[in-house]
Amino acid sequence: MITFKNIQVKYDNFVAIPDLTFDVKEGEFFTLLGPSGCGKTTTLRALAGFLKTSGGVISIDNKDITDVSVHERQVGMVFQSYALFPSMTAFENIAFGLKVEKKSKDYIKERVAELAQMVELTDEQLAKNVSNMSGGQQQRVAIARALAKKPKILVMDEPLSNLDAKLRKSLRKDIRNFQRKYGITMVYVTHDQEEALMLSDRIAVFNRGKLDQIGTPDEIYNHSKTEFVCKFIGDANYLSVRDMGSIGLNTNRFDNSNKFYIRPEKIYLSKEKRGLIIGKIISKEFYGMYAYYKIDVNGVEFQSFQSENNADDLAVGDDVSVFINFDDILSYSDEVKSD
Ligand code: ADP
Ligand code: MG
Repeated sequence: MITFKNIQVKYDNFVAIPDLTFDVKEGEFFTLLGPSGCGKTTTLRALAGFLKTSGGVISIDNKDITDVSVHERQVGMVFQSYALFPSMTAFENIAFGLKVEKKSKDYIKERVAELAQMVELTDEQLAKNVSNMSGGQQQRVAIARALAKKPKILVMDEPLSNLDAKLRKSLRKDIRNFQRKYGITMVYVTHDQEEALMLSDRIAVFNRGKLDQIGTPDEIYNHSKTEFVCKFIGDANYLSVRDMGSIGLNTNRFDNSNKFYIRPEKIYLSKEKRGLIIGKIISKEFYGMYAYYKIDVNGVEFQSFQSENNADDLAVGDDVSVFINFDDILSYSDEVKSD
């Protein structure tokens, strides 16, 4: 539905996005994920039409919209800080774009009521000045405003980053349910890995203006294509070729790879000494539902994550069998691959 083909974006002489290609399907929750400064906002602004591109083609529904103005793009944007008009009520904020378009009073009233119902704002809340609203309510207003003109696409730039952890968790569920319920095509930006994994149908991982991988949350997490993606998306134990040898893991099957990663929850521990790899527990951090163990195997240290079931009978100083499935080992090469 949305296609970015060889898009380039510059700020004066600085090339923020050299050559970006991806597509988003209708009704998809598509997330741009990456560390600060990698080009997420730039990409979103290019899509919404706030930034001119210096190369490539953006199309929506097979129509080239590269040079179409912001107002005609049918992309609704929720900004990072919401950018609501602070002296206006929620109603006036949501109605703003419709007023500019000179829609009738009756139409505006009806449309705002419809939107308020979608984002679950009451009449009382609609009459409130937005500066007297909570972060969560302001976000609902921002979403309703972005949807007022019935855009084909909703884009959101780190909409949860200014909120406290608890609210963030509850609102991200709301966003997900809302997107599913109305089948909205969503392009969402975040630097938060967990948020991306939990919300998305597909994730595009940015690494300095380029995409390292586009895939489902499972593909990104369990089959990270590059070392950058592997480390960015979650915890992983790093093992060199030498470490692999010390542990007793054969590296022959990994072609030319010289760097290996294993996620902590993929390392199983057991007190029954029937495994091939024997290690010692050197520390334990207990969190209730789960625990992190640091294990030493022949001088190689790594972390293992175990659920509470396994946690209470494993203690510091215990000798344990360590089980690692070869398929769970992510391997990379220092050589630059040309693909
Ligand atoms: P992100 O949203 O992923 O944090 P941005 O898209 O904001 O990243 O920025 C990408 C790169 O472009 C960064 O190096 C940033 O410094 C640069 N950049 C962003 N906005 C501007 C601007 N208005 N002028 C010049 N450089 C900019
Ligand atoms: Mg940004």
